[in-house]
Amino acid sequence: LAKQSGKNRYHYYDLAQDKLMREYHDQLSRLANALEQGELLLVYQPKVDLRDGKVIGLEALLRWQHPELGLLLPESFLKVLEGSMTELGLGDWVSKQVLQQMEHWRQQGWVLDVSINISASQLQQPDFADNLLQQLAQFPLLSPAQLGLELLETAALENIVQSIQTLAVCRAHGISFALDDFGTGYSSLAYFRNLPVDMLKIDQSFVSNMLNSPEDRNIVDSIIRLARAFNREVIAEGVESLAHGAMLLQLGCHYCQGYAIARPMPAASIIAWMQGWEQQRTWEHLPALACA
Ligand code: C2E
Ligand code: MG
Ligand code: MG
Ligand code: MG
Repeated sequence: LAKQSGKNRYHYYDLAQDKLMREYHDQLSRLANALEQGELLLVYQPKVDLRDGKVIGLEALLRWQHPELGLLLPESFLKVLEGSMTELGLGDWVSKQVLQQMEHWRQQGWVLDVSINISASQLQQPDFADNLLQQLAQFPLLSPAQLGLELLETAALENIVQSIQTLAVCRAHGISFALDDFGTGYSSLAYFRNLPVDMLKIDQSFVSNMLNSPEDRNIVDSIIRLARAFNREVIAEGVESLAHGAMLLQLGCHYCQGYAIARPMPAASIIAWMQGWEQQRTWEHLPALACA
Protein backbone atom coordinates (compact mmCIF):
# COMPACT_ATOMS: atom_id res chain seq x y z
CA LEU A 1 0.00 0.00 0.00
CA ALA A 2 2.88 2.29 0.85
CA LYS A 3 4.06 1.94 -2.70
CA GLN A 4 0.90 3.41 -4.11
CA SER A 5 1.42 6.56 -6.04
CA GLY A 6 0.13 9.97 -5.05
CA LYS A 7 -2.27 9.78 -7.93
CA ASN A 8 -3.86 6.64 -6.52
CA ARG A 9 -4.18 8.21 -3.13
CA TYR A 10 -6.08 11.08 -4.66
CA HIS A 11 -8.32 8.49 -6.19
CA TYR A 12 -9.16 7.03 -2.76
CA TYR A 13 -9.63 10.49 -1.32
CA ASP A 14 -12.13 11.31 -4.07
CA LEU A 15 -14.01 8.10 -3.33
CA ALA A 16 -14.25 8.99 0.35
CA GLN A 17 -15.42 12.49 -0.50
CA ASP A 18 -17.88 11.07 -2.94
CA LYS A 19 -19.31 8.71 -0.31
CA LEU A 20 -19.76 11.59 2.14
CA MET A 21 -21.54 13.67 -0.47
CA ARG A 22 -23.83 10.77 -1.37
CA GLU A 23 -24.67 10.21 2.31
CA TYR A 24 -25.42 13.89 2.73
CA HIS A 25 -27.74 13.91 -0.28
CA ASP A 26 -29.44 10.69 0.85
CA GLN A 27 -30.10 12.22 4.26
CA LEU A 28 -31.25 15.45 2.70
CA SER A 29 -33.80 13.69 0.52
CA ARG A 30 -35.00 11.61 3.48
CA LEU A 31 -35.52 14.83 5.42
CA ALA A 32 -37.29 16.43 2.44
CA ASN A 33 -39.56 13.40 2.35
CA ALA A 34 -40.20 13.65 6.10
CA LEU A 35 -41.22 17.28 5.68
CA GLU A 36 -43.55 16.34 2.84
CA GLN A 37 -45.08 13.47 4.83
CA GLY A 38 -45.71 15.71 7.83
CA GLU A 39 -43.29 13.79 10.07
CA LEU A 40 -41.58 16.92 11.38
CA LEU A 41 -42.98 18.74 14.38
CA LEU A 42 -42.05 21.34 16.94
CA VAL A 43 -42.00 20.90 20.69
CA TYR A 44 -41.91 23.83 23.10
CA GLN A 45 -39.84 24.35 26.24
CA PRO A 46 -40.78 27.04 28.77
CA LYS A 47 -38.39 29.71 30.08
CA VAL A 48 -39.10 31.16 33.51
CA ASP A 49 -38.08 34.07 35.73
CA LEU A 50 -36.92 32.41 38.93
CA ARG A 51 -37.59 35.51 41.05
CA ASP A 52 -41.36 35.18 40.72
CA GLY A 53 -41.87 31.95 38.77
CA LYS A 54 -43.41 33.79 35.80
CA VAL A 55 -43.14 32.12 32.41
CA ILE A 56 -41.26 34.58 30.18
CA GLY A 57 -41.62 32.58 26.98
CA LEU A 58 -41.08 29.33 25.12
CA GLU A 59 -38.41 27.94 22.81
CA ALA A 60 -39.50 25.96 19.74
CA LEU A 61 -37.40 22.82 19.10
CA LEU A 62 -37.53 20.59 16.06
CA ARG A 63 -38.38 16.87 16.21
CA TRP A 64 -38.77 14.15 13.61
CA GLN A 65 -41.47 11.58 14.29
CA HIS A 66 -39.86 8.82 12.27
CA PRO A 67 -42.23 5.99 11.25
CA GLU A 68 -39.67 3.28 12.12
CA LEU A 69 -37.12 4.90 14.41
CA GLY A 70 -39.51 6.82 16.66
CA LEU A 71 -39.04 10.39 17.86
CA LEU A 72 -35.69 11.74 16.64
CA LEU A 73 -33.76 14.62 18.21
CA PRO A 74 -32.07 17.23 15.99
CA GLU A 75 -28.62 15.80 16.82
CA SER A 76 -29.41 12.75 14.71
CA PHE A 77 -30.18 14.85 11.65
CA LEU A 78 -28.35 18.06 12.54
CA LYS A 79 -25.62 17.70 9.92
CA VAL A 80 -28.18 17.93 7.17
CA LEU A 81 -30.27 20.32 9.24
CA GLU A 82 -27.71 23.09 8.92
CA GLY A 83 -27.89 23.25 5.12
CA SER A 84 -31.48 22.04 4.84
CA MET A 85 -32.86 24.96 6.80
CA THR A 86 -32.42 26.94 3.59
CA GLU A 87 -32.08 24.17 0.97
CA LEU A 88 -35.41 22.58 1.90
CA GLY A 89 -37.09 25.73 3.14
CA LEU A 90 -37.20 24.14 6.58
CA GLY A 91 -36.42 27.48 8.22
CA ASP A 92 -39.51 29.04 6.66
CA TRP A 93 -41.55 26.02 7.67
CA VAL A 94 -40.42 26.38 11.31
CA SER A 95 -41.25 30.09 11.52
CA LYS A 96 -44.62 29.55 9.85
CA GLN A 97 -45.52 26.75 12.28
CA VAL A 98 -44.47 28.87 15.23
CA LEU A 99 -46.43 31.94 14.10
CA GLN A 100 -49.56 29.83 13.48
CA GLN A 101 -49.20 28.29 16.94
CA MET A 102 -48.71 31.72 18.56
CA GLU A 103 -51.85 32.98 16.81
CA HIS A 104 -53.74 29.90 17.98
CA TRP A 105 -52.65 30.55 21.59
CA ARG A 106 -53.54 34.23 21.25
CA GLN A 107 -57.07 33.32 20.20
CA GLN A 108 -57.33 31.27 23.39
CA GLY A 109 -56.23 34.28 25.42
CA TRP A 110 -52.56 33.39 25.82
CA VAL A 111 -50.13 35.96 24.40
CA LEU A 112 -46.84 34.07 24.52
CA ASP A 113 -43.30 34.96 23.49
CA VAL A 114 -41.65 32.22 21.44
CA SER A 115 -38.07 31.89 20.24
CA ILE A 116 -36.86 30.03 17.17
CA ASN A 117 -33.39 28.58 16.53
CA ILE A 118 -31.72 29.95 13.42
CA SER A 119 -28.91 28.20 11.56
CA ALA A 120 -25.89 29.97 10.10
CA SER A 121 -27.06 29.34 6.54
CA GLN A 122 -30.40 31.03 7.29
CA LEU A 123 -28.75 34.09 8.77
CA GLN A 124 -26.57 34.46 5.68
CA GLN A 125 -29.55 34.73 3.34
CA PRO A 126 -29.73 38.38 2.25
CA ASP A 127 -33.55 38.23 2.26
CA PHE A 128 -33.84 36.52 5.66
CA ALA A 129 -35.23 39.58 7.46
CA ASP A 130 -37.64 40.51 4.64
CA ASN A 131 -38.95 36.94 4.51
CA LEU A 132 -39.57 36.76 8.22
CA LEU A 133 -41.22 40.19 8.33
CA GLN A 134 -43.49 39.14 5.46
CA GLN A 135 -44.49 36.03 7.36
CA LEU A 136 -45.17 38.13 10.46
CA ALA A 137 -47.31 40.54 8.45
CA GLN A 138 -49.72 37.66 7.85
CA PHE A 139 -50.44 37.63 11.59
CA PRO A 140 -51.40 41.26 12.24
CA LEU A 141 -52.59 40.52 15.78
CA LEU A 142 -49.20 39.15 16.83
CA SER A 143 -46.51 41.60 17.88
CA PRO A 144 -43.02 41.10 16.39
CA ALA A 145 -41.80 41.67 19.96
CA GLN A 146 -43.28 38.27 20.83
CA LEU A 147 -40.78 36.65 18.50
CA GLY A 148 -37.19 35.86 19.46
CA LEU A 149 -34.39 34.34 17.42
CA GLU A 150 -31.59 32.21 18.85
CA LEU A 151 -28.32 31.89 17.01
CA LEU A 152 -24.87 30.52 17.69
CA GLU A 153 -21.98 32.97 17.96
CA THR A 154 -20.30 31.09 15.14
CA ALA A 155 -23.36 31.60 12.92
CA ALA A 156 -23.12 35.36 13.26
CA LEU A 157 -19.36 35.31 12.66
CA GLU A 158 -19.63 33.65 9.27
CA ASN A 159 -20.43 36.94 7.65
CA ILE A 160 -20.38 39.51 10.36
CA VAL A 161 -21.40 42.48 8.18
CA GLN A 162 -24.42 40.66 6.75
CA SER A 163 -25.36 39.33 10.19
CA ILE A 164 -25.27 42.73 11.88
CA GLN A 165 -27.37 44.15 9.06
CA THR A 166 -29.97 41.36 9.39
CA LEU A 167 -30.05 41.66 13.18
CA ALA A 168 -30.51 45.42 12.93
CA VAL A 169 -33.46 45.17 10.53
CA CYS A 170 -35.21 42.53 12.65
CA ARG A 171 -34.57 44.39 15.89
CA ALA A 172 -35.88 47.63 14.42
CA HIS A 173 -39.21 45.78 14.10
CA GLY A 174 -39.08 44.52 17.67
CA ILE A 175 -37.78 40.96 17.13
CA SER A 176 -35.21 40.07 19.78
CA PHE A 177 -32.02 38.00 19.54
CA ALA A 178 -30.22 35.63 21.85
CA LEU A 179 -26.73 34.17 21.46
CA ASP A 180 -27.20 30.43 22.05
CA ASP A 181 -24.63 28.13 23.70
CA PHE A 182 -22.73 31.22 24.79
CA GLY A 183 -19.19 30.51 25.90
CA THR A 184 -18.58 27.54 23.61
CA GLY A 185 -17.82 29.46 20.42
CA TYR A 186 -14.56 31.14 19.59
CA SER A 187 -15.70 34.68 19.05
CA SER A 188 -13.63 37.39 20.65
CA LEU A 189 -15.06 39.99 22.98
CA ALA A 190 -14.50 42.55 20.22
CA TYR A 191 -17.00 40.71 18.00
CA PHE A 192 -19.41 40.23 20.85
CA ARG A 193 -19.23 43.95 21.58
CA ASN A 194 -20.49 44.77 18.08
CA LEU A 195 -23.23 42.14 17.86
CA PRO A 196 -26.61 43.72 18.53
CA VAL A 197 -28.10 40.90 20.63
CA ASP A 198 -30.52 41.24 23.52
CA MET A 199 -29.68 38.13 25.47
CA LEU A 200 -26.92 35.63 26.22
CA LYS A 201 -27.83 31.98 26.76
CA ILE A 202 -25.26 30.35 29.01
CA ASP A 203 -24.39 26.97 27.53
CA GLN A 204 -25.83 24.02 29.41
CA SER A 205 -22.44 22.33 29.79
CA PHE A 206 -21.27 25.08 32.17
CA VAL A 207 -24.61 25.15 33.98
CA SER A 208 -24.90 21.42 34.58
CA ASN A 209 -21.37 21.21 36.01
CA MET A 210 -21.40 24.40 38.05
CA LEU A 211 -22.44 22.72 41.31
CA ASN A 212 -19.31 20.57 41.52
CA SER A 213 -16.86 22.39 39.29
CA PRO A 214 -15.54 25.75 40.57
CA GLU A 215 -14.17 26.45 37.09
CA ASP A 216 -17.57 26.07 35.48
CA ARG A 217 -19.17 28.14 38.23
CA ASN A 218 -16.62 30.88 37.51
CA ILE A 219 -17.48 30.75 33.82
CA VAL A 220 -21.19 31.05 34.58
CA ASP A 221 -20.43 33.92 36.94
CA SER A 222 -18.27 35.66 34.30
CA ILE A 223 -20.94 35.38 31.61
CA ILE A 224 -23.54 36.85 33.97
CA ARG A 225 -21.19 39.75 34.74
CA LEU A 226 -20.38 40.22 31.06
CA ALA A 227 -24.08 40.39 30.23
CA ARG A 228 -24.65 42.94 32.97
CA ALA A 229 -21.67 45.06 31.90
CA PHE A 230 -23.02 45.17 28.34
CA ASN A 231 -26.59 45.71 29.39
CA ARG A 232 -27.76 42.40 27.94
CA GLU A 233 -30.20 39.93 29.46
CA VAL A 234 -28.90 36.50 30.47
CA ILE A 235 -30.60 33.10 30.65
CA ALA A 236 -29.23 29.75 31.79
CA GLU A 237 -30.11 26.58 29.88
CA GLY A 238 -29.79 23.05 31.23
CA VAL A 239 -31.19 23.81 34.70
CA GLU A 240 -31.68 20.28 35.96
CA SER A 241 -32.31 20.80 39.69
CA LEU A 242 -33.57 23.25 42.26
CA ALA A 243 -30.00 23.64 43.50
CA HIS A 244 -28.92 24.86 40.04
CA GLY A 245 -31.73 27.41 40.11
CA ALA A 246 -30.78 28.64 43.58
CA MET A 247 -27.14 29.10 42.62
CA LEU A 248 -28.05 30.92 39.40
CA LEU A 249 -30.27 33.32 41.33
CA GLN A 250 -27.47 33.90 43.80
CA LEU A 251 -25.10 34.72 40.94
CA GLY A 252 -27.66 37.15 39.49
CA CYS A 253 -29.10 35.14 36.62
CA HIS A 254 -32.88 35.36 36.78
CA TYR A 255 -34.02 33.56 33.67
CA CYS A 256 -33.80 29.79 33.47
CA GLN A 257 -34.73 26.90 31.24
CA GLY A 258 -34.22 23.21 31.84
CA TYR A 259 -35.59 19.80 32.70
CA ALA A 260 -36.09 20.79 36.37
CA ILE A 261 -38.68 23.32 35.20
CA ALA A 262 -40.08 21.52 32.18
CA ARG A 263 -39.02 19.28 29.34
CA PRO A 264 -39.83 20.33 25.79
CA MET A 265 -43.45 19.29 25.10
CA PRO A 266 -46.01 19.28 22.29
CA ALA A 267 -47.84 22.56 21.71
CA ALA A 268 -51.08 20.94 22.87
CA SER A 269 -49.62 20.41 26.38
CA ILE A 270 -48.36 23.94 26.96
CA ILE A 271 -51.47 25.67 28.33
CA ALA A 272 -52.20 22.87 30.82
CA TRP A 273 -48.55 22.95 31.90
CA MET A 274 -48.67 26.71 32.43
CA GLN A 275 -51.82 26.45 34.52
CA GLY A 276 -50.23 23.73 36.62
CA TRP A 277 -46.99 25.68 36.97
CA GLU A 278 -48.81 28.75 38.28
CA GLN A 279 -50.45 26.68 41.00
CA GLN A 280 -47.32 24.81 41.94
CA ARG A 281 -45.22 26.31 44.69
CA THR A 282 -41.95 24.38 44.35
CA TRP A 283 -40.00 27.37 43.18
CA GLU A 284 -41.58 29.92 45.49
CA HIS A 285 -38.98 29.52 48.20
CA LEU A 286 -36.09 29.72 45.80
CA PRO A 287 -35.28 33.42 46.29
CA ALA A 288 -35.04 32.77 50.05
CA LEU A 289 -32.94 29.67 49.42
CA ALA A 290 -30.59 31.67 47.24
CA CYS A 291 -30.07 34.27 49.97
CA ALA A 292 -29.36 31.69 52.66
P1 C2E B 1 -30.34 24.57 21.71
O1 C2E B 1 -31.07 25.61 20.96
O2 C2E B 1 -29.19 25.01 22.54
O3 C2E B 1 -31.44 23.83 22.59
C1 C2E B 1 -31.22 23.32 23.86
C2 C2E B 1 -31.19 21.80 23.85
O4 C2E B 1 -31.03 21.33 25.18
C3 C2E B 1 -32.47 21.16 23.36
O5 C2E B 1 -32.08 19.95 22.71
C4 C2E B 1 -33.22 20.84 24.65
O6 C2E B 1 -34.16 19.79 24.52
C5 C2E B 1 -32.09 20.47 25.55
N1 C2E B 1 -32.37 20.72 26.98
C6 C2E B 1 -33.24 21.57 27.53
N2 C2E B 1 -33.19 21.55 28.88
C7 C2E B 1 -32.24 20.65 29.20
C8 C2E B 1 -31.71 20.16 30.45
O7 C2E B 1 -32.11 20.56 31.54
N3 C2E B 1 -30.73 19.23 30.37
C9 C2E B 1 -30.25 18.76 29.19
N4 C2E B 1 -29.28 17.85 29.22
N5 C2E B 1 -30.71 19.21 27.99
C10 C2E B 1 -31.70 20.13 28.00
P2 C2E B 1 -32.66 19.53 21.31
O8 C2E B 1 -34.13 19.82 21.26
O9 C2E B 1 -32.19 18.14 21.07
O10 C2E B 1 -31.95 20.50 20.29
C11 C2E B 1 -30.58 20.48 20.05
C12 C2E B 1 -30.14 21.62 19.17
O11 C2E B 1 -30.69 21.50 17.86
C13 C2E B 1 -30.63 22.97 19.67
O12 C2E B 1 -29.79 23.42 20.70
C14 C2E B 1 -30.53 23.79 18.40
O13 C2E B 1 -29.23 24.26 18.20
C15 C2E B 1 -30.87 22.79 17.31
N6 C2E B 1 -32.26 22.97 16.87
C16 C2E B 1 -33.41 22.52 17.43
N7 C2E B 1 -34.49 22.93 16.75
C17 C2E B 1 -34.03 23.68 15.71
C18 C2E B 1 -34.66 24.42 14.65
O14 C2E B 1 -35.89 24.50 14.52
N8 C2E B 1 -33.82 25.08 13.79
C19 C2E B 1 -32.46 25.06 13.92
N9 C2E B 1 -31.72 25.74 13.03
N10 C2E B 1 -31.85 24.39 14.91
C20 C2E B 1 -32.61 23.71 15.80
MG1 MG C 1 -31.74 27.44 21.37
MG1 MG D 1 -40.29 40.17 23.83
MG1 MG E 1 -28.05 25.82 23.65
